[in-house]
Amino acid sequence: MPIFTPGRRWQPPFYPFKREPFGRRTLAFIERVTKGPLFGCRMCGNCLLQETAFICPMECPKGVRNGPCGGSTPEHCYVDQTRPCIWYRIYQRAFKMGREELLLEVLPPLDWDKTGTETWGDVVHQVTKVVGAREFVRGMSSKDPEKRHTVWDSVFRPVRQPEWWQGDADYHPPRDLTPRSELERRLQSGEFVVTAEVAPPTTTATGKLCRNVEMVRPYVAAINFTDNPSATCRMSSWACAKLALEHDAEPVMQIAARDRTRTSLQSEVLGAYSLGVRNILCLSGDHARMGPVPVSRSDVLDIDSIQMIWIIRRMRDEGKYLDGRGIKFPPNVFIGAAAAPFASEPRFQAIREHKKVNAGAQFFQTNLVYDPDRLEIWLNELAKRDILNKVYILAGITPLKNYKMAAYMHHEVPGVVLPDSVLKRMEMAGEGAAEEGVQIALELIEQIKKKQGIHGIHLMAVGWEEIVPRIVTEAGLASESLLATGALPLPA
Ligand code: SF4
Repeated sequence: MPIFTPGRRWQPPFYPFKREPFGRRTLAFIERVTKGPLFGCRMCGNCLLQETAFICPMECPKGVRNGPCGGSTPEHCYVDQTRPCIWYRIYQRAFKMGREELLLEVLPPLDWDKTGTETWGDVVHQVTKVVGAREFVRGMSSKDPEKRHTVWDSVFRPVRQPEWWQGDADYHPPRDLTPRSELERRLQSGEFVVTAEVAPPTTTATGKLCRNVEMVRPYVAAINFTDNPSATCRMSSWACAKLALEHDAEPVMQIAARDRTRTSLQSEVLGAYSLGVRNILCLSGDHARMGPVPVSRSDVLDIDSIQMIWIIRRMRDEGKYLDGRGIKFPPNVFIGAAAAPFASEPRFQAIREHKKVNAGAQFFQTNLVYDPDRLEIWLNELAKRDILNKVYILAGITPLKNYKMAAYMHHEVPGVVLPDSVLKRMEMAGEGAAEEGVQIALELIEQIKKKQGIHGIHLMAVGWEEIVPRIVTEAGLASESLLATGALPLPA
């Protein structure tokens, strides 16, 4: 084993790198000593440097290969605050170099059989065996930039986009526009919808969960069940979704990439669909370091949220697994994604949201919004990218209970920013902080619902579910929801 093995991070435990022939090992050595210092290359074996402004993204502790996560800041990575967010640097440089549109290509997950090996062999193979060395030289010396681009792409595209992935930067609308769920039907009908989160229990007892579902159900179009938020164990989201269905509520099942391989993702989507789940929300999930001590494995980095969306859309619309096998009865789900208006920079996040929409996301539920003006900036960036008419956006609202919670949200929760005015109001409210929090939430909803591109709100009450009926009613959103369900109970 060589002393210096930067690719070792990507080596699956208990599975040593296979012994490659001498020629490939030599090529790998040269690639490592060249690309390592130049680009921070980690020898992932699936090189995508051209699409990432020549900075290797494999430094990202979440293993994201398609853009900054919702916790990215200009100052640092939210997982490892001693380092900058590598994706922030990539986006910054891509904008400087005028290569930002290249960031839109949906890049594949790793082929783990190739990690630690070289990529140059594949490039040489493309040049000599597929394109032809003479054709390559002739094309690259052409005066026509279009021709140069075509020849270059014919060599590098098959290397970074293998046959089993074929990612691109195009919009892939759903093949069938018939609503798959009540949530999709209501959004299609133009209703301003409300969804709410009900916290999965931390025990096997389901009484409180079922009571909360019953309480919230008449006021919302669908109920979200999180997937081990803050990397902390709770009841699984599919089990909560199944219980919600038994109580006539429509669930949105959240699936986090953390802890999941591509196999378990596809298997869970099939299982959830067969149990009656019709809405699935894909997200990267909080890093294991956000969870309790002892910290869980942090290297189950098989897929990111954009790759999840791509895989599920292809399962649904093309009826095939990632490995190309056909699915006789595909899961016909309404695909959602998380959106982060306040992470990194709005123009950076807009590229990432654009990519999610292209990959197949049909609705967004955003991170918490406390600053409608900054939300507007993000919406404008989405409008510039012409995606507001391709995705439904539900703005995330969390009523604050006290000043401590407000300060925690502002300082500790990645991608959440509270303006000074909100922090001050919560601090000054003292005993009446909970009431002040409700009033702030109502004011936010009032401002947000007028914004173009917003189709609803997503209430995340964080264990304060009993406030949902009051907020929905006082925000003037109850009547539509209640009329649609045929029931008109008054909040307690
Ligand atoms: S902030 Fe997110 S995207 Fe950026 S390096 Fe850290 S984990 Fe990766």
